[in-house]
Amino acid sequence: MNVLVINCGSSSLKYQLIDAASEKVLAKGLCERIGMEGSQIVYQPAGCDKITTVSPMPTHKQAIQLVLDSITDKDNGVIASLAEVGAVGHRVVHGGEKYASSVVLNDDVLKAIEECNDLAPLHNPANLIGIRACQELMPDTPMVGVFDTAFHQTMPEEAYIYGLPYEYYEKYKVRRYGFHGTSHSFVSKETAAFLGKKPEDMKIIVCHLGNGSSISAVCHGKSIDTSMGLTPLEGVMMGTRCGSIDPSILEFIAAKEGLDMAGVMKVLNKESGVQGISGVSSDFRDLEAGAKEGNKRCALARKAFSYGVAKYVGAYTAAMNGVDAIAFTAGVGENDGRIRQAVCDYLGYLGITIDQEANSKRGENMIISTPDSKVTVCVIPTNEELAIARETLALVK
Ligand code: AMP
Repeated sequence: MNVLVINCGSSSLKYQLIDAASEKVLAKGLCERIGMEGSQIVYQPAGCDKITTVSPMPTHKQAIQLVLDSITDKDNGVIASLAEVGAVGHRVVHGGEKYASSVVLNDDVLKAIEECNDLAPLHNPANLIGIRACQELMPDTPMVGVFDTAFHQTMPEEAYIYGLPYEYYEKYKVRRYGFHGTSHSFVSKETAAFLGKKPEDMKIIVCHLGNGSSISAVCHGKSIDTSMGLTPLEGVMMGTRCGSIDPSILEFIAAKEGLDMAGVMKVLNKESGVQGISGVSSDFRDLEAGAKEGNKRCALARKAFSYGVAKYVGAYTAAMNGVDAIAFTAGVGENDGRIRQAVCDYLGYLGITIDQEANSKRGENMIISTPDSKVTVCVIPTNEELAIARETLALVK
């Protein structure tokens, strides 16, 4: 069965058509600037060059129509008709406390997702628009929602409750939810499989380090803690997000800079993290280049980031009373060996030693610790689209 995977943002839409049996990507691409001037679709059939077409997309419905037209196009398409799409898997950011696993989408589920809009105002409404547009264009095709929060629903109360009046949890559901769950689930399972073990027999720390970063403690196959919280702003510092800071800083900056709450939140979400410290870039490649040229703030940003990740590894080793494997994934985790090394330099007390030659490679599942390292450290490329396709197949077949 072919599964169309849709990841719908407010003005963009990423898609992949995956043959779920062979797990091969048949085609993939991206619609950009939906609802704006100059919208375009990038379409890439497997093994071929990207085809970019500028085309008006006033709404997500047109964007999805263009995706469907592209995959069935008589010259560049990869399937003969939409009948060959057996199911659609939608990434949904927030499932609140209601969804601890993926679910077949129907009217009741869409209502429940809408009820979580408050918790993810930038993401859930966009996800819903994408789902509804797909339902209109493919009314007979089963659709599945795969939630970023679902994997972390196994966290115990003491890990998800904040030190706030308990009524805020009861009335407004203010608690830690965690994100990147599809990635943490996929990578922890892949890690165990790669090491020839069962997830139930392992304590794994997954470091998903990308533009957004989160760390999770996966104990015997279940997420028991994760660094992101009510929103993806908490945790380790990120490309442009501040991560965990003293909450009093909000009031202090607002007063000093003359900002309202929205202004402060914009700073914390868009102008902070390694971008904020360096003043140069949110991209770790630029920071490394800057550091090499002697830019001290670029070097500081990389160091503060690595230190922050290492502190979470220490905390989660305590939370699980041990750790068998640490897995690095996502853009930075998969590609930046120096960041991996810098994180592991703090972890000598765990008996971790890194094989520098192995750590200089990239692109595939690999072990980067030495054979005598007490904890196995590995790089496991994440694949959220494949994880969504797997979940979708499991629910509709
Ligand atoms: P992601 O959010 O997982 O797509 O990760 C995107 C981030 O990964 C970029 O902003 C870069 O900081 C980082 N990245 C991607 N490629 C490399 C690379 N070759 N070396 C270092 N960092 C990289």
